[in-house]
Parts: sequence; structure tokens; C-alpha cells
Amino acid sequence: MSTSNERYALALHGGAGAVAGRNYDSVEQHLKKLATDCEALLAAGQSALDVVEVAVTELERSGLYVAGRGSAPNTAGYVELDASIMHGPDRKAGAVAALRDFINPIRVARGVMDKTPHVLLAGPGAGAFARKNSYEAVVEPGNYYVLPVGVTADELLDSNAHGTVGAVALDQSGALAAATSTGGTFGKLEGRVGDTPLIGPGTWADDTIAISCTGTGEQIIRSGGAVSIACAYKSGVTLEAAVQDMLDEVQRLGGDAGVIAVTHETAIATLYNSDGMKRASVSTAQALRVTTFA
Ligand code: ASP
Repeated sequence: MSTSNERYALALHGGAGAVAGRNYDSVEQHLKKLATDCEALLAAGQSALDVVEVAVTELERSGLYVAGRGSAPNTAGYVELDASIMHGPDRKAGAVAALRDFINPIRVARGVMDKTPHVLLAGPGAGAFARKNSYEAVVEPGNYYVLPVGVTADELLDSNAHGTVGAVALDQSGALAAATSTGGTFGKLEGRVGDTPLIGPGTWADDTIAISCTGTGEQIIRSGGAVSIACAYKSGVTLEAAVQDMLDEVQRLGGDAGVIAVTHETAIATLYNSDGMKRASVSTAQALRVTTFA
């Protein structure tokens, strides 16, 4: 918590795929350090957009989560990566889907936003864009990808098992941004794309709210996901109720999910209907909180 007069807020998640009874101490330590570092960036006046990109870049590199280095292969035996980023003030957005073998899909997503007229590049086209713009590639996929913390080899075939990373932030200028990245659900078919790279269901930022979702992507997409929360919040529904309504809809459709959201007024929501969600949050109004199940 800062003593500055300027307001900011940050929330991070490491996925709603946490399994009750498992130990996530190392993940929580990582989230604590990352949230502290990112808070310092916001306190120093960095933009929400840069901070969510920095946060997700580190989450992807760590190998602790089902994103970037910790991604699991699809049923054809190789990793496909999804990521998206959105900037609230101008609604600019960029995303990649089914991208193969780049260290930081979120950076490529930011590149799509900054360097192309498009929002989403997928498959070989996303790879060609990443190569052309010299994003860091995975040289030896067989040696690079690792099993994330709390995931067993058996679960790699279980399509209900999943994980994702995300970050949402409000900066001192009042701008909001959101970013999300995933290796997808385990046991997914080749070419399967979930909610994470979709601006609307998986990631959303506008003038009043920034949201990153995690959970079973098919049900998140069918629920409307993040943008349905934003619409409800703008219409006057409280933040908690807006998030809970979306989670209830995901559950009714047979899935589970977690959501992190921050508002232009520094309110933070971190809610889920799975066993747990690895997460951290801090703002000028709230001391750092890091937890998985509580
Ligand atoms: N939503 C992600 C997907 O369906 C997975 C997750 O968040 O755990 O690809």
C-alpha cells in the first residue's frame, strides 16, 4: 500500500485450475515478488499497459503456470499458445492464437496491437509475424517446456484441467489495461482456441474496468465472459455482483472459472468458482494480498 496521493491498483492471477489440498507456496512467493515489483512500477508512474505486459511476460517465463514455459502439449503432441492484451483509454487490443514456440506470446500480442491494423493473428500467420519482428523463439521445444507447479503427468490428458495467467492494472493517469496468456486446457485438440486470446470473453479493458478471465474457455466464451461483466458493471450492478453473475453462468453451462478485475476507482475483485485461484492484488487503498484458496 502506498502513501502517495495518486491512485493505482493491480491484480494478478496464475489460473483458476488450482487443486484443493495441493501446495502452492512457491507460486504464492513468486506472485508476491511480482506484485511487489509491479506495484513499484505503478507507483513510479509507469503505464498500466506496460505493467500488465511486464507482469504476464514474467508469469510466462517462470514455468510455474500453464502459460508460456509451463504450457502443456495438445493431443497432437505440441504446444500452442494464446495471449491477448487490451488498453482501456483507446480500446486498442492485440492477440495471438495457436502460436507455436515463442517465449513470450504476450509480447507478440502487444506487437499485433502496436504494429498491425489487426486485433488477432492465429496459427502460422501469428508465427510468421513473430519471426518477422524478431520476438524471442523457443529453440528446443523438447527441452524448454516444463510441467507447471501442482500439475501431474496424468492431468495432461484431462481436458477439465487448465491454468492461465493474467494481469489487470489501473495507473496513476487513470488508464486501465488487461493482459492474459495461456497454454490452454490440457488434452485439447490441435487448433483449439479458448477464451484467452479473445478480446471480449477472455480479456477486456475500457474506461471503467479491466478484466482477465481464467477457467474452462468454452464455457467462458459461451457466457460472454469479461465483456459481459463490463456491461453489467457500467449499467450500475456492483463489481462483485457483475463478476458473480458471469461465474454463475459459466457454472450453469458446466464449466468453472476465475476472474480478476480492477475499476477506475481502485476497486479490486478476485472471485472464482473452482477449487482455488492463485492470485495477488494491491492498490493505494489495499495492502498486498496473495492467496490461492482463501
Ligand atoms: N481459459 C483457458 C483456456 O480455456 C484456460 C485457463 O484459464 O485455465 O484456454
